[in-house]
Amino acid sequence: MSEEHHYDLVVVGGGPAGSSAAYAAAKNGIRVALLEKEKSIAETVRTSGVTWIQNIKEFGIPDDCYNPIKNFSFCSPNNEVTISDSVARAAVLDVRKTYRWLAREAEQSGADIFVKINIDQVIKNKNGNIVGVKGKGPKGEVTFHCKMVIDASGFTSTVCKAMGFAEQWKRFGAGAEYEVEVENSDPHTWWLMVGQQYSPAGYAWIFPLGNNKVRIGVGVGKPESNVDPTQRLKEIMETKMGPIKELGKITPIEFHYGLIPNDGLSRKTVFNNLILVGDSAGQANPLVLEGIRYAIKFGRVAGKVSADAIKSDNTSMSALEEYEKNWKKDIESKINSAGKVQDRWIGLSDEEWDIELDIINELKPEEFIDFIKADFGLSNMIKLATHHPKLAVRQLFNLIKGKK
Ligand SMILES: Cc1cc2nc3c(=O)[nH]c(=O)nc-3n(C[C@H](O)[C@H](O)[C@H](O)COP(=O)(O)OP(=O)(O)OC[C@H]3O[C@@H](n4cnc5c(N)ncnc54)[C@H](O)[C@@H]3O)c2cc1C
Repeated sequence: MSEEHHYDLVVVGGGPAGSSAAYAAAKNGIRVALLEKEKSIAETVRTSGVTWIQNIKEFGIPDDCYNPIKNFSFCSPNNEVTISDSVARAAVLDVRKTYRWLAREAEQSGADIFVKINIDQVIKNKNGNIVGVKGKGPKGEVTFHCKMVIDASGFTSTVCKAMGFAEQWKRFGAGAEYEVEVENSDPHTWWLMVGQQYSPAGYAWIFPLGNNKVRIGVGVGKPESNVDPTQRLKEIMETKMGPIKELGKITPIEFHYGLIPNDGLSRKTVFNNLILVGDSAGQANPLVLEGIRYAIKFGRVAGKVSADAIKSDNTSMSALEEYEKNWKKDIESKINSAGKVQDRWIGLSDEEWDIELDIINELKPEEFIDFIKADFGLSNMIKLATHHPKLAVRQLFNLIKGKK
């Protein structure tokens, strides 16, 4: 049986980018369909869910969706440092609860959500522009006709690939994680573990969720390393490496696995009748592979720009250009700076990591947060590169600014 629907805007992908785009578009008065291939929103978790309380508040995400973090511990083979803040600025999200809250906001603004719809084709008009999508639903083939599409399908970038606008990401991060129950855990301290034994091109982590639950994971940069993150995760958990041993008995609850693009801001993100947002657009901070807040923020921008374009009956690439300008102005230079730190970190030996941790330890909590968030405002960087009392910190920030 084949099913046909007609909407102003179709959003493909019910992750944070898609739900946020659908919310903003529906709130701005157009007819929106949000399509998700799984049987419910956030059925599969593919992320560790670390983000920042300031952003959570800006987005209006409820307080019961996250666990606050105020201490940031690092360990390398022969060093360990902790940066302690006076207030919690970071958070580990209850990913399912948060993503479902985002989808509910979209629904309450008037968007229709369709689950179990796997989009695999695009419909084009005679000019070659997208005017709909097709896929498989629970009852067979399903077609959505529309004036515009937002591709929020994440790493797979289904729509823009089907249009022939993009190829598979070449450089990306692969991450494996267990959500587990443990005997001992400090709910307000996260751990980042670096060095060859944890990950040859990346890092491992312990992110607490509160109530003696934590996420233990390993991320590996591809193609830099051929280590399988799932295998490495099992090894470091079995041998109870570094701070993992302090957790005591570990009982796995759920396994998570995901891929995140790390090709820089290489993609064009607007075309006639089409916007790319979130991981589909490559909007992630490469340093710690963090993309949730960008997905939500630019999802909302994409939804608003799409609604305005549809209402003014001009969904051409030039009418949508405002979206690309908006997000590039906000994060392009920060992502490029973060890429420079990542290049430095990927090349570090175990001994160099031991020294790097001493440099990180010289940062004040707010400097560290700006650094890890890739919130490198130019004036901030100049200040740190010129005036920081420690030479090693000045050198680090000179590198980010672009000086040798
Ligand atoms: C291991 C790992 C750890 C991470 N940790 C963090 C972190 O701690 N903090 C952080 O901020 N970011 C983290 N990220 C990155 C973050 O998860 C992404 O940047 C974010 O999820 C991007 O949101 P999105 O909506 O663009 O894509 P996604 O979250 O991937 O959502 C895409 C949605 O589209 C659906 N979909 C895909 N194809 C189709 C189709 N053909 N038809 C219909 N639906 C489809 C999918 O099922 C999915 O629901 C991590 C990523 C990985 C891989």
